[in-house]
Amino acid sequence: MNNNIKNEINDLKKEKNAIILAHNYQPKEVQEIADFLGDSLELCIKASQLDDKDIIIFCGVDFMGETAFILNPDKKIIIPDLDADCPMAHMTTGEEVKVAKKKHPDAAVCLYVNSLADAKQYADTLCTSSNVVKVIESLDEDEILFGPDNNLGEYVSSKTFKKIIPITDEGYCYVHKKFTVQDIETKRKEHPDVEVICHPECDKVVQDKCDKVMSTGGMINYILDSDKNDFVLGTEIDIASRINLLNPDKNIIPLRDDAICDSMKIITLEKIRDSLKNEEPLIKLPDEIAKKSLKAVNHMLDASKN
Ligand code: SF4
Repeated sequence: MNNNIKNEINDLKKEKNAIILAHNYQPKEVQEIADFLGDSLELCIKASQLDDKDIIIFCGVDFMGETAFILNPDKKIIIPDLDADCPMAHMTTGEEVKVAKKKHPDAAVCLYVNSLADAKQYADTLCTSSNVVKVIESLDEDEILFGPDNNLGEYVSSKTFKKIIPITDEGYCYVHKKFTVQDIETKRKEHPDVEVICHPECDKVVQDKCDKVMSTGGMINYILDSDKNDFVLGTEIDIASRINLLNPDKNIIPLRDDAICDSMKIITLEKIRDSLKNEEPLIKLPDEIAKKSLKAVNHMLDASKN
C-alpha cells in the first residue's frame, strides 16, 4: 500500500517539478520520501536555494511554510495539512512585539524562527536553536528583545553578555516542556554510561542536568561523528528516525516516549500525494508582511554564514 503511494508521489513530483522538504520531527515514512531533511535552519537555507522548482511541499508546521513563502513568494508553497501548526509560534504576536519595542526603543528584536509572519514582520533578525548565539552576537545592540521561546532566551543569556529581554512572560514548546529532572535521573539509572543530550527548548533545570545541550542539527552531527552508539535524547521522538536513516547502528533512547509533537504527525503520505495532485493547500501571506519579514529572514541567513 505504502509503496503504491510512494510511487504516485514520485511520479507527481516529476510531473509537477516539485520538491519535498521535511523536518527532522516528521514521521518515519514521510522522512523516507523527502528530498531534503533538516532542522529549521537547514530547511530555511534549502528553501532559499530552490529557483529550479515550481512547487515546494513542506512537511512541517505553519511557521516553516510561511518562512518558505517569504523566501519564495512566486512559488507554490504547500503544507499538506494546514492544521499542522506550532502552538509556540502563536505565543508572540505582532502586537506584542510592537508594544515591547515601544518599551525598549534601543533594543533589537530577535525572534525564534518558530514565530508567525505577523510577528516576524517587526523583527530585526531571526534565529534557530543552532545559530542563536551567532545571530545575537552579530547584532550591534546590547539589548535584545527575544521571543517566543523563553527557555531558548535563557539559554542564550548564559552564552552572551548581551541583555536578553523576553517579549512575553510565557512562551514555550509543550513537547520540550514535558521533560523533568526525574526523567533524566530515571534514564541515568537505566543506562548508566550513556550520554544525555537535550534541546535548548527544555527547561533550564533539565538543561543543567544533561551532559550536553544542542539543537537537533547539532545532535545529529555530534552523534554521527561519535564512536559511541547509545544516546539518550531529550527532544521529539522522531529525531531517532532521522538519525537511523543516516546510521541504523545508532541506538537513540528517548528521554520520554511521549515527547511527540502532534502537529508534526498529522502529515501523512496520502495527504502529500493529494496535495501534489491538487496543488493545495497553499501557504499565502499578504505582500507587505512577506516583504517586511524577508529583511529579518535574510539577516539571519547572512549571520549564519559568518
Ligand atoms: S516540537 Fe514544539 S516548537 Fe517544534 S513544532 Fe512542535 S510544538 Fe512547535
